[in-house]
Amino acid sequence: MTSLKIALAKGRLLDDSIKLLESIGYDLRAVKETRKLVIDDGAHNVRYLLAKPMDVPIYVEYGAADVGIVGQDALRESGVNVYEPAVLGYGNCRLMVAGKPEYKTMEWRLLTGLRIATQYPRVAKQYFSARGLSAEIIEVYGSVELAPAVGLADLIVDVVDTGSTLKANGLIELDEIFRSQATLIVNRASHTLKVDEVRTLIEKIENVMRET
Ligand code: AMP
Repeated sequence: MTSLKIALAKGRLLDDSIKLLESIGYDLRAVKETRKLVIDDGAHNVRYLLAKPMDVPIYVEYGAADVGIVGQDALRESGVNVYEPAVLGYGNCRLMVAGKPEYKTMEWRLLTGLRIATQYPRVAKQYFSARGLSAEIIEVYGSVELAPAVGLADLIVDVVDTGSTLKANGLIELDEIFRSQATLIVNRASHTLKVDEVRTLIEKIENVMRET
């Protein structure tokens, strides 16, 4: 039997992804105990690849991994062509436009030349161009909430969970772009070539999700 390569997003989703896979009987002790990025669960014929969330869709699209567990935020941003057979019910967050409180009462949607700081340039571009707005998208690699405070940008597009990071940095939510949760993605070729392994994984996940 060929092994199934599963790419897992490191960071916020990892603990719950490990719990999900453990709940279907897979052995992820080594994933928790080492800093290795490629880990075999020989008993179940599974190989885990640990990648940055934004990279998981790429590994799956190119077939370096057959399956991935990643947030829909990273999936939408990557723009890859993969199957998305199951959403997983954890890692809930919202992609938001946010800014300083004065924007609440302002017709900011009518302003031209807004500068938008984000780690989601594709999502941000789509959002503003779909509304016919001209905005300059500035890609930053983290701490996006800093940008309006120091005048780098007028608004941000970022993931919000509890909203406490926005609040702590004097920002408010202005518009929700979409809601995101963890999702299972499958490479299009693996979906056919490893149909039994992929189907078994999906069925096991669906069964434990029904029970919880
Ligand atoms: P919060 O203060 O709970 O709203 O969390 C917001 C901060 O955590 C932001 O800096 C986000 O970039 C990050 N964040 C929140 N939810 C997620 C998520 N599901 N995946 C990755 N980063 C997240």
